[in-house]
Amino acid sequence: MTENYDVIIVGSGAGGGTLAHTLADSGKKILLLERGNFLPREMDNWDPRPVFVEGRYISKDTWFDGDGRPFQPQVHYFVGGATKMYGAALYRLRPADFGELPHVDGLSPAWPLSYDDFEPWYTKAERLYQVHGNGGEDPTEGHRSEPYPWPAVSHEPRIQQISDGLEKGGYRPFHAPCGILLNEADRPRSTCIRCTWCDGYPCLVHAKSDAEVIAVRPVLGRDNVTVLTGAEVTKLETGDSGRTVTGVVVSRGGGHEVYTGDIVAVCAGAANSAKLLLNSASDAHPRGLANGSDQVGRNYMFHNCLAVVALSKEKNETVFQKTLGINDFYFATKDYPWPAGNIQMIGKSNAEAMRGEKPKVTKLSPEWTLSDVAEHAVDFWLTTEDLPMPENRVTTDGDGHVHLAYTPTNNEEAGRLYGELKKIMNHTGMAEHHVLGKNFYMNMSIPLAGCAHQAGTCRFGTDPASSVLDVNCQAHEVDNLYVVDTSFFPSIGAVNPALTAMANALRVGEHLLSRMA
Ligand SMILES: Cc1cc2nc3c(=O)[nH]c(=O)nc-3n(C[C@H](O)[C@H](O)[C@H](O)COP(=O)(O)OP(=O)(O)OC[C@H]3O[C@@H](n4cnc5c(N)ncnc54)[C@H](O)[C@@H]3O)c2cc1C
Repeated sequence: MTENYDVIIVGSGAGGGTLAHTLADSGKKILLLERGNFLPREMDNWDPRPVFVEGRYISKDTWFDGDGRPFQPQVHYFVGGATKMYGAALYRLRPADFGELPHVDGLSPAWPLSYDDFEPWYTKAERLYQVHGNGGEDPTEGHRSEPYPWPAVSHEPRIQQISDGLEKGGYRPFHAPCGILLNEADRPRSTCIRCTWCDGYPCLVHAKSDAEVIAVRPVLGRDNVTVLTGAEVTKLETGDSGRTVTGVVVSRGGGHEVYTGDIVAVCAGAANSAKLLLNSASDAHPRGLANGSDQVGRNYMFHNCLAVVALSKEKNETVFQKTLGINDFYFATKDYPWPAGNIQMIGKSNAEAMRGEKPKVTKLSPEWTLSDVAEHAVDFWLTTEDLPMPENRVTTDGDGHVHLAYTPTNNEEAGRLYGELKKIMNHTGMAEHHVLGKNFYMNMSIPLAGCAHQAGTCRFGTDPASSVLDVNCQAHEVDNLYVVDTSFFPSIGAVNPALTAMANALRVGEHLLSRMA
């Protein structure tokens, strides 16, 4: 019989890693179970072929779409979870995102907590993850109790030029919030060299504020913290009453182990957390653990996103491109009654990845641009809110595999946002000097497999009939079970989700500490 833990955490990403970090100082006995291993630090980390073409860091899982067709989801099983690959654009949701927000395809529902409730946790999360930004530039952001802990990462000349052009055109571009370690104070750890290999790549020098570097590594070696890698949790067992998780079943090294803890926090990512609960069905929970409401797995969201590449005749020698954001269309405007979303820059594209993803369009470009495409491409990422629809859901089959039924929402708003981006290009000189002809850009919407921004599936709320978790992210139906990753989101807004998952983990962490006290 293994020892009993105070808290068992399943998954070490934005939610689980941050939760482990915040509980570690308490001296409570923590067990962190992670199905992946530490991501190897190797030159492949910064090579687009293994990363984008060969999918070296993508799981070998097979999931199935709503029609039963198999696909390989772009999920990342490592210590640090998806944050190992993320772009570390660490945005807060807007205050209005916490309320009801009408969209062209329906209503984005209110959260049971407000922006003001989250604000102190956002501040703590920004401090922990060392977010760089300039408060007050973004016209849609909420109030801040403290400035960003670090000043914004400055624009490189080409991006500054674009920002200046936008300002002249009447837009309000801002410095995007970035989680990178760029400071003297961090030198004992690592310092960002502002390379191109950030967004979509693991950071070889460990200078990206990901959950492994910021949250998990600093607590390794503590007497009260045990981290087991290669440890996939396959089932949660409950006692006869069904009110308490009594065993955490783990597949590790070819065998099965069972661990016990007073509190169990599931932080496996939105799809995998739902999978785990659904696969933990029992006599007391016939539809899946904590699923009397039939809400587990429902309301899956992952943003309606578009990647756009402008191939300018002018060279773009920017190395670290993710410094600019535009939220002028985040909410309804005088010309359009619905929120369209957020525009931001992404990491520099390269010929290798582009040839693989858009072969027909790239064929139209003269060879000189593709062979040296990184010097000409200017890359944008457009995000429109995706609504929580009950029929967009994770279910599991008899073998426990994930099935993901999904129909996108707010396509009209996404189209509008793309139209606004094209107008914006007219203020940056890019429309006239574009390689593929005026206002014709390479673009790619993100398929079902691109589940980077997955959220929903176990939303929190006050009504057990329509939510899985209460406001502390405790399952309504199980006294010692929590879900502390992006699963808890009742809506997703149109900004990147990780900072909200981190802030929430800090919030739930404090709740757990007072509960255990
Ligand atoms: C390429 C890419 C770019 C992104 N860019 C950004 C960005 O710039 N800004 C932003 O805010 N967000 C970004 N995201 C999204 C962000 O990374 C996620 O929203 C965030 O990491 C989700 O946190 P989580 O805790 O829900 O899940 P994760 O971080 O994925 O953590 C889940 C963890 O659980 C583990 N796990 C799963 N199942 C089990 C199991 N059964 N047993 C044990 N362990 C398990 C996984 O291995 C993983 O470590 C990006 C994601 C990707 C992939």
